[in-house]
Amino acid sequence: MSISTNLAHVVEEIRAAALAAGRDPAEITLVAATKTQSDDVIRQAIAAGVTVCGENRVQELTAHWEAGAYEGAQVHFIGHLQTNKVKYLMGKVDLIHSVSSQKLLLEIDKQAGKAGLVQDILLEVNLAQEPSKSGFFVPDVLPAAQLCGQLPHVRLRGLMCIPPAATFPEENLPFFHKLQALAVDIQERMGDNKTDTKILSMGMSGDFTAAIAAGATHIRVGTAIFGPRSPISNPF
Ligand SMILES: *Cc1c(COP(=O)(O)O)cnc(C)c1O
Repeated sequence: MSISTNLAHVVEEIRAAALAAGRDPAEITLVAATKTQSDDVIRQAIAAGVTVCGENRVQELTAHWEAGAYEGAQVHFIGHLQTNKVKYLMGKVDLIHSVSSQKLLLEIDKQAGKAGLVQDILLEVNLAQEPSKSGFFVPDVLPAAQLCGQLPHVRLRGLMCIPPAATFPEENLPFFHKLQALAVDIQERMGDNKTDTKILSMGMSGDFTAAIAAGATHIRVGTAIFGPRSPISNPF
């Protein structure tokens, strides 16, 4: 199957899931998870209609960036981010989905300040408190949002989660509903003009239809577009 055929399939599934939930399909942004893909495959995906590429390794992102592979698309960072790598992302990524600690927020603010920009970010939430995954536990999300409010070079745009791998999409519905409710709760508690938790980044190849039913605005899809990745590549 070609990338464009797969992509058309995913776009149709997004449309159907949105309509079934009484939502406008245009509210949903497809972030193509391009990890492990070559410059050439990334270019093919963009030519086929991908408008946002999601990367989860700084080194891969930088290499594709330098090769000009992302031309015509936005780049989002969706993977685990180490503090010492933040500086390499500045000016390259429109949105960082995976901010998982206050330390990281402070570093992003510092580096964005140096670069003279305001970095849009999402707070990653570890809803199931899985030790293998990063992300704020639920009680720590409000303090992190409050910190964002104090940082001049960081703009909070919403929340992100990576629930446990699903064998069928609906399995993760409770997590998706939980993230949606948490975003509303944070928005209300902050009660200011700067905080904006409208973006909900949730849903991957195995469960994006359920995520859309629960209000996802951004879904991150790799396998359903590009096919299975080689097993040596750890997805997270
Ligand atoms: C790889 C990746 C995805 C996409 O996973 P698939 O199951 O291949 O769709 C989504 N989110 C993150 C953070 C990823 O690293």
